[in-house]
Amino acid sequence: MQSPRWQQLWREAVRDGGELLGLLGLDPAALGLSAGAARQFPLRVPRGFVARMRHGDPADPLLRQVLPVDAEMRPAPGFSLDAVGDGAASAGDGMIRKYNGRALLVATGSCAINCRYCFRRHFPYAEQTASAAGWAAALERIAADGGIEEVILSGGDPLSLSDAKLAAFTDALRAVPHVRRLRLHTRLPVVLPERVDDGFTDWIASLPWPVAVVLHANHANEFDAGVDAALARLRAAGASLLNQAVLLRGVNDSVDALAALSERGFAAGVLPYYLHQLDRVQGAAHFEVDDARARQLHAGLAARLSGYLVPRLVREVAGDPGKRPL
Ligand SMILES: *Cc1c(COP(=O)(O)O)cnc(C)c1O
Ligand code: SF4
Repeated sequence: MQSPRWQQLWREAVRDGGELLGLLGLDPAALGLSAGAARQFPLRVPRGFVARMRHGDPADPLLRQVLPVDAEMRPAPGFSLDAVGDGAASAGDGMIRKYNGRALLVATGSCAINCRYCFRRHFPYAEQTASAAGWAAALERIAADGGIEEVILSGGDPLSLSDAKLAAFTDALRAVPHVRRLRLHTRLPVVLPERVDDGFTDWIASLPWPVAVVLHANHANEFDAGVDAALARLRAAGASLLNQAVLLRGVNDSVDALAALSERGFAAGVLPYYLHQLDRVQGAAHFEVDDARARQLHAGLAARLSGYLVPRLVREVAGDPGKRPL
């Protein structure tokens, strides 16, 4: 069988910094492009996402999220390899059970894009994914734990799995009576909207539970007509759409940028959910916005927008049972 178009587009992603900057008409030397950083965590960005970057702009907010630069290699105190403590929360079957009532499955380690600020840069997740052994261990634990009402597929990006793999999981999950909601955490509808094809929306529409899709967009420019269409298809299939963003210096650290993100998302049917303080992972220190500035931006956003367009400002703290509000 021929592979779906989104998988072909995924394989054709840009993986070379020189090529990326060439496409944008930029000079590699001027941008601090780093081979060392790219070795640590390779560049990967779908061509459709590159097309949303501004030509000739070295400060483009989408480019900054994916370009490996020298700043990543500078040591920064307090920035570590396992910043969110997930190493401790996982029992080795890809399931994280630190949130009350919810089971989070690291469904896969793959993503269609490599975001420089991501904790994933240090975790290849070789064996510890829930899908690796056909989901059996995770399903067993969910079935045995009546306190789990919501199952969260996360990653990596769960939408990098095939429709068949996803359906194999939910077909088995149907037999667990205490599960009442399904949630997907994904950046794919934004970075590779072709992923939301007929097969995928048929799967969403077939599910017996209410489905929340938590998207991950950090800047209004990440939306375009293709993304709008993908999100409209998801809503038509019955999914509720939310967005979580990471507050990133040089990308979205202004009231204007954050307001535009909320407004642009809502125009596509997405409600803002969280605005995350950065996880303090090694290599991401140059993206950090300090807490005082974060609170100031959040207050500015609240003063400007309708309440439902203001995301909650939070931080992930190792060992906490949920996000910590700032
Ligand atoms: C925080 C988080 C959760 C669970 O917390 P909620 O407060 O229920 O959203 C699940 N998945 C991911 C990826 C998260 O970051
Ligand atoms: S997990 Fe999310 S933030 Fe991390 S690389 Fe994948 S898409 Fe980007």
